[in-house]
Amino acid sequence: MGPPFRAVYFDCDSTLSSIEGVDELLAFADPALRAEIAELTEQAMNGSRPLAEVYETRLGRLAPRREQLHTVGEAYVDHLVADAAATIRALQFLGKEVGIVSGGLLAPVQHLARHLGVDLAAVHAVPLLFDDDGNYRDFDHGSPLWRNGGKVPVVQSVPEHHRPLAFVGDGITDLETAPHVDRFVGFGGVVARDAVRAGAEFFTDRPTLAAVLPLLLSDAELARLAAEAEFAPLLSAAKA
Ligand SMILES: [Mg+2]
Repeated sequence: MGPPFRAVYFDCDSTLSSIEGVDELLAFADPALRAEIAELTEQAMNGSRPLAEVYETRLGRLAPRREQLHTVGEAYVDHLVADAAATIRALQFLGKEVGIVSGGLLAPVQHLARHLGVDLAAVHAVPLLFDDDGNYRDFDHGSPLWRNGGKVPVVQSVPEHHRPLAFVGDGITDLETAPHVDRFVGFGGVVARDAVRAGAEFFTDRPTLAAVLPLLLSDAELARLAAEAEFAPLLSAAKA
């Protein structure tokens, strides 16, 4: 179905922020482990290895301490995709609910959400479990988001007033939501993945999140934004 949509949910890594959050934990790892983990992450993202297998191995090997998650959250904010903050402000100005569904780690994704003014009730990611000294114990296996297909039950269970729902993301687990949302937009502005480009009815590989606005909004909504001085540069970026 076409716009208007009442809610727009975004992936986090390589969609709102240009980094893959788990890669930030590599700064704490030795070079050999670093190379191994980067390869695993890429295999999970392009669908050549099951996400669940990569997730277990990656976190178990990295065993992040609690305070390292702050570093990841700050890195998300430091590497926001161009126009991400203004795009979310524009969607909220139009009265839309905004959410985040990420296979990343919950605390850093919440940090980014607070920075962007996204309601934490609509923020979904994977919680980690620590002991009293802040040592990594495990991740929450009860979350669906560490497996392929995990974003599907999350988008299926959004509140009724978040429908019709649009979803924006770069990865294969994002594309999996397409049959379960009212519009899926593939965002290739950080990393353009062939499988997502091929599978998504709507796709952009322009390096600004503003490029998704014409794919998400009705003509009337775009006109409402055009009438606001604050959003004029955003619309120029969207059309450029
Ligand atoms: Mg992503």
